[in-house]
Amino acid sequence: MILSIFLLVILFLFLSMASASAEEKPSVHLLATGGTIAGKASSETATTGYEAGALGVEDLLSALPEVKDYARVTGEGICGIDSKDMTDAIWLTLSERVNALAGEKDGLVVIHGTDTMEETAYFLQLTVNPSIPLVLTGAMRPATAVSADGPMNLLNAVRLAAHPSAKGKGVLVMMNDTIFGARNVTKGNTLSLDTFRSPDGPLGYMNDGIPCWCALPVRVPKEKAPFDVKGLTALPKVYIVYGHAGADGAMVKAAVSMGAEGIVYAGTGNGSVHREDEKALAEAAAKGIPVVRSSHAGSGSVISAEPSYEKEGFIQGGSLSPQKARILLSLALTRTKDFGDIGEMFGKY
Ligand code: ASP
Repeated sequence: MILSIFLLVILFLFLSMASASAEEKPSVHLLATGGTIAGKASSETATTGYEAGALGVEDLLSALPEVKDYARVTGEGICGIDSKDMTDAIWLTLSERVNALAGEKDGLVVIHGTDTMEETAYFLQLTVNPSIPLVLTGAMRPATAVSADGPMNLLNAVRLAAHPSAKGKGVLVMMNDTIFGARNVTKGNTLSLDTFRSPDGPLGYMNDGIPCWCALPVRVPKEKAPFDVKGLTALPKVYIVYGHAGADGAMVKAAVSMGAEGIVYAGTGNGSVHREDEKALAEAAAKGIPVVRSSHAGSGSVISAEPSYEKEGFIQGGSLSPQKARILLSLALTRTKDFGDIGEMFGKY
């Protein structure tokens, strides 16, 4: 009798400890947008020609029950697209959902195609409350492929989002066991699994599922999102014009005639502007359209160069890639059209 009471007490203690430890697991919520990670191909050997975003968040989770060992995972679908087709409207929805969930969850994971992952990461970094870890992940091989990289990426993203050390580091991208910061990360190879890179190196690595940090991110907004996009249904229209030999200003004029509210010039070298494009850009700036000089060189900063650029009011894009400069200029235009104020934001974010 005494023995059975003793065994019952032990069983009770064991069960309550088990349920307490389940309770203690952080809550991580997945926001699925599609991408190759949710892609379905016609054969297990196909790694191209698949339908991106075909699988829902439930499919991805049921294929990866292991995530439950690290977090109480929930999820929802935002959209199911190939991220090359990302839109302002989806960004605005995503940003609103992230801000709403930040007070409820311990961490968030955005499942995303790799093509525009860097852009979404930077957009979110500028528009969401950074109080909890927010990690973007995806895959280079569709879910149906032999040796698909999605499941391990998703597992690591959940482990990273659940880890206290990921807090306060801004929006993170976790791909191929490597952690990057939203501002500097870029897709650097069309097909390789190891496609993401940052000119200044990654922030860290997932070593057997544990974040191991080697650098701190720069220009991470600390307390609140610098740009409030709540209630917006569209963003100011900003076009990128690519600088190249033989330019004749036509693309700049086309951007203006299509209603550009701002132009990012993806120049050569230190944001250098072809003289024919410069004439057209100067005309645009004179009409009040802000022009940001950036570079398609791939790394380094765009700083002052020709004195005429300053006279014409061109803004220096610093170390932002043209596609991220486009995002910052568009968000800046939600607040001001003043070239000086916009220039200050480029020095800050
Ligand atoms: N085209 C795909 C996308 O960006 C590639 C990927 O997901 O990796 O959605």
